[in-house]
Amino acid sequence: MRKLLVVGTVAFDAIETPFGKTDKILGGAATFIGLAASKYNVKPAIVSVVGEDFPPAYLELLTRKSVNIEGLEVVEGGKTFFWSGKYHHDLNKRDTLITELNVLADFKPRVPQEFKNSDVVMLGNLHPAIQMQVLDQLESRPKLVVLDTMNYWMEHTWDALIDVIGKVDVITINDEEARQLSGEYSLVKAARKISAMGPEYVLIKKGENGALLFHDKRIFFAPALPLEDIFDPTGAGDTFAGGFTGYLTDTENISFENLKNAVIHGANLASFCVERFGTERLQDLTPLEIETRLQEFKDLTQFDFEIQ
Ligand code: AMP
Repeated sequence: MRKLLVVGTVAFDAIETPFGKTDKILGGAATFIGLAASKYNVKPAIVSVVGEDFPPAYLELLTRKSVNIEGLEVVEGGKTFFWSGKYHHDLNKRDTLITELNVLADFKPRVPQEFKNSDVVMLGNLHPAIQMQVLDQLESRPKLVVLDTMNYWMEHTWDALIDVIGKVDVITINDEEARQLSGEYSLVKAARKISAMGPEYVLIKKGENGALLFHDKRIFFAPALPLEDIFDPTGAGDTFAGGFTGYLTDTENISFENLKNAVIHGANLASFCVERFGTERLQDLTPLEIETRLQEFKDLTQFDFEIQ
């Protein structure tokens, strides 16, 4: 099976949406990515860190879902990364209430030997210097390196972020962050500027408004599926990244045409993620549900007319 190496946070999240509130539940970018990627015929492995307060049941859950956690360090006496956020009625906007780095502050990633020749590497949202340290440990160039980041790292670690962006093939980023990173309002101009920083492909996520994939002069648009129930958008971006990289690792084809398919797979899994709090919906998602919704995506976007 092809290998997908994932680095990112494994976290406790406390979330408030207009529909409810949670205490600390399982979250983190790498968690969502790993669980989403595990829906494909691939071997995903997470490189991350948690504290002694992290419940063994969460570790068991990841293992049960065939996510390799050899590279997930548990720090004795340490506290797990904690994030708390609040969404308003516009679920595309959220306020971060708390970010406690805890064990992440001194984390030195260690890539398991078996994954030093991974086919695809997904650098999930986390300190860009840690993302770089993961790349530095690889023994062969992966077919594809994908990076996700957020405004927090632009504000705190700009230089390190620019360095790692220069090393990747694809960057996934939301629209607001693309504007912040590039200083351009137009997403077309923003994508061009970001691509000039290194990544050949720029994937801009627009939450409920879908996603845009830019490559040279080509643009592909994937809608988000209009859903009856949207409960909690936390992790949708990471789930998207997990579906995107899981599909590409599985199919071993990194042409623009196949990246378009991967965007749909990412959007498809993300549409499930938002239906319940945290990782809940991803945990029991079946292959049949995934396939049925892929067909809904196809029906939503298919049309047939001739351009004169
Ligand atoms: P998303 O909704 O896809 O942007 O991701 C939400 C996840 O990102 C949550 O589970 C958080 O634990 C995690 N997260 C929040 N802030 C950060 C940060 N500064 N660095 C890394 N991960 C974060």
